[in-house]
Amino acid sequence: MDDCIVRAIAANGSIRAFSAISTNTVEKARKTHNTSPVVSAALGRMITAAAIMGAMLKAENALITLQITGDGPLKGVLVTSDSHSNVKGYAVNTNVDIPLRADGKLDVGGAIGNGSLRVIKDVGLKEPYSGSIELITGEIADDLTYYFAKSEQTPSSVGLGVLVDTNLSIKHSGGFIIQLMPDAPEEIINQLEKKLLTIPYITQMLENSADAEEILKIILGDFNLEILEKTSIDYKCDCNRQRVEQAIISIGKNEISKIIQEDKKAEITCQFCGKVYDFNEEELKSLIIEDC
Ligand SMILES: [Zn+2]
Repeated sequence: MDDCIVRAIAANGSIRAFSAISTNTVEKARKTHNTSPVVSAALGRMITAAAIMGAMLKAENALITLQITGDGPLKGVLVTSDSHSNVKGYAVNTNVDIPLRADGKLDVGGAIGNGSLRVIKDVGLKEPYSGSIELITGEIADDLTYYFAKSEQTPSSVGLGVLVDTNLSIKHSGGFIIQLMPDAPEEIINQLEKKLLTIPYITQMLENSADAEEILKIILGDFNLEILEKTSIDYKCDCNRQRVEQAIISIGKNEISKIIQEDKKAEITCQFCGKVYDFNEEELKSLIIEDC
């Protein structure tokens, strides 16, 4: 099954809904970073959420970044997506191994610990929008639900799931974001709240091989669901040598001189895709911009 995002409305536009299948994308991230199962789950949930929230952006060159920092062994996860759901991300500690939860699930909340979630939206305006919340559980879906309520005043239901196979590959990954529009009638709000209490866990839907459309049918099938669009998701890094050069220039003359003195070369690894960029002494010298 190819990865995709399905965008829909329901209840005559009172509800907007997105669902995603992100198995291949998350598997690509897992292979890139060689993550342990609980880290794959955390990174995968973040990737699914970022891909959907990227698809929510209307501006063509818009970017969204989700960043979690916590005091648990995972320390942090950062994921970014453009409006076409080209995502990339990394975890600070890729090799966390902690016991499963009592219910047998990977303990993402335990790996992240207490901390905060920041959402940065760059839609091409002078200042990017940035909203931040304290983590509720560190399970990511709960935290995003709280973020939408608190920072965007939008009542939402978020489900994110990643199933890791016994060989450590990603068996299933996907999720949904359901939101009430400001004009939603009371009756629809009550009906939806009741419905959400009865739906299976997203992991169960994925285990049953539900595709993105089926996920929305399970949740909103009784709400006059209208599928609007289906778009793709991919794990893509857009790093290049020129950007890395800019990053080196930005650390300044003194720092570059120090590197030249101590190592005579630099090896810069892209955090998102692992690509290595080598710089010899001459190349480093050419990146020293004299202060004027
Ligand atoms: Zn890269």
